Amino acid sequence: MHQKSYPFFEKPPDEIRQKEICVHLREAHPMLFCGEIGKSTLGRPLRFFRIGRGKQAILYVGAHHGMEWVTSLVLFRFVDDLMKAISRRGMGNLLGKDRSLFVLPMLNPDGVEIELHGASAAGLLRDRILAQNGGNEDFTHWQANARGVDLNHNYDAGFGAYKEKEKEMGIFGGAPTRYSGPAPFSESESAAMRDFLLFTHPALTLTLHTQGEEIFYHKADPPVKGAENYGWMLATLTGYRLGQAKGAAAYGGMSDYIAEKLHLPAYTLECGLGKNPLSCEAGEGIYRGLRRALFLSLITAYFGYPKKEDTVWNA
Ligand SMILES: [Zn+2]
Repeated sequence: MHQKSYPFFEKPPDEIRQKEICVHLREAHPMLFCGEIGKSTLGRPLRFFRIGRGKQAILYVGAHHGMEWVTSLVLFRFVDDLMKAISRRGMGNLLGKDRSLFVLPMLNPDGVEIELHGASAAGLLRDRILAQNGGNEDFTHWQANARGVDLNHNYDAGFGAYKEKEKEMGIFGGAPTRYSGPAPFSESESAAMRDFLLFTHPALTLTLHTQGEEIFYHKADPPVKGAENYGWMLATLTGYRLGQAKGAAAYGGMSDYIAEKLHLPAYTLECGLGKNPLSCEAGEGIYRGLRRALFLSLITAYFGYPKKEDTVWNA
């Protein structure tokens, strides 16, 4: 049976569009499980999809940052593609019976809505974020959540060291980008993510950002077993450059936290090339470039690579 393909890359994923996409995915794939890990600052759902019933988790996350919403479209598209493949070839062939894939297309729905629709999307926080944006009504470069906190600097990894750098950059409070917040996990989005990570201990985490066609991983001490080799494999599959995060980008991020505190492999993928925000149409090319890595990562960990000890949670 031929299924007509859905136009994932037609519009940006604002609240209305996300609902449309989720309705489509549930209708097209009745077996797909959709849940929430929590709510954003303004009460928007932090949605995830779960595919498979195994105890070993793999995690893909999009849109930590407001203007990087194209990564959500890429992950919605991937979920659709994967579910179609499962209906043709069976779950076991794609995921194995021991694994579960969790896809969280958008960790920062408030930031995305603000980036797309301006200050009014922040509701009661409207005046506050306008001030944080320097009084500017143009939010096309907004990266933070609705409290002006950059979620990917709000994880508990080098937080204190980053605070010093933040001051050097002249950031002392809520801002469009790079403000790490009052304390690690001060934000509802990152706190929900931490709880989810501690519950699932993903054997592999890929977190999608834009742009630069680069893959970053955090060299923890002691190093996470297999993490560098797996990074090279991802680089080979995507054609992206592999590197270690440097400067301000090396602190407080999700991948840094997972590597440092959970000792598990996690990668930040800076998808696509161009100037942020990338367009919807750019998503199609990004997806084509990532597709093999997203599919293959489902089974490589199944063969015990990267190492999977201590990654089974008690579901
Ligand atoms: Zn980003």
